[in-house]
Amino acid sequence: MFIISTKTMLKKAQYEGYAVPAFNIHNLETLQVVVETASELRSPLIVAGTPGTFSYAGTSNIVAMATELARTYNQPLAIHLDHHENSSDIERKVQSGVRSVMIDGSHYAFEDNVSLVKEVTDYCHRYDVSVEAELGRLGGVEDDLVVDGKDALYTHPLQAREFVSRTGVDSLAVAIGTAHGLYTAEPKLDFDRLEEIRANVDIPLVLHGASGLPAADIRQAIKLGVCKVNVATELKLAFAEALKGYLSAHPDASDPRHYMIPAKAAMKEVVRKVILDCGSEGKL
Ligand SMILES: [Zn+2]
Repeated sequence: MFIISTKTMLKKAQYEGYAVPAFNIHNLETLQVVVETASELRSPLIVAGTPGTFSYAGTSNIVAMATELARTYNQPLAIHLDHHENSSDIERKVQSGVRSVMIDGSHYAFEDNVSLVKEVTDYCHRYDVSVEAELGRLGGVEDDLVVDGKDALYTHPLQAREFVSRTGVDSLAVAIGTAHGLYTAEPKLDFDRLEEIRANVDIPLVLHGASGLPAADIRQAIKLGVCKVNVATELKLAFAEALKGYLSAHPDASDPRHYMIPAKAAMKEVVRKVILDCGSEGKL
């Protein structure tokens, strides 16, 4: 079994004080880079995709490629549904072999978020699939998800405790001042709030919007209970910048076996840096 849930890997991270990196992948090249690099550093690994990514690449293609790469590199990994909102879509993907799910009801009122997450969690646990939910709202942009800064809401610690006990969810994404996409100003994370959430909730906590966060902030968040760190934008940027650089230096280039090489090398550096910041090297 190479495709696993995040349940055991996140609990281990929680007890041993590191975080498992979750990389948003889009195609064969990003998958190759994250699996190869995680395997070299013996790091546990989550490969994540938004609904847009699964539609773009095809769910069965992603599952097949990730399974084959996991086998080749002897690297068990979780394929994770990032920011999924629709329960029948989630059920279909679970039946396709996915074992890790985020149900994002953070845009709903508290009671509606609770019922949606409970319904999805009940379903997923029948198949030994782990479930992440979000309470509070992150600002910024991720695929079709756009949240204006003024609509971003921090997670309330006592509400988090009630949310976890009523839904039975396995991990919780918290809003403590991070945002999706790139930071235009230095982010200021609310570590006191994170500490208070950790004191009220005993399941693994998840940090979204880690692209561009200073390494010291990531380390501090892990120290205070974050067990999963999501990275999407940083990987996309490294890929695109290196590709653009190569193509402008070689305007006649047409062979993906050539122009993908610097793009993959640039992504590999990001993956390596994130694994080191997460402290997950050697933790597989
Ligand atoms: Zn996110």
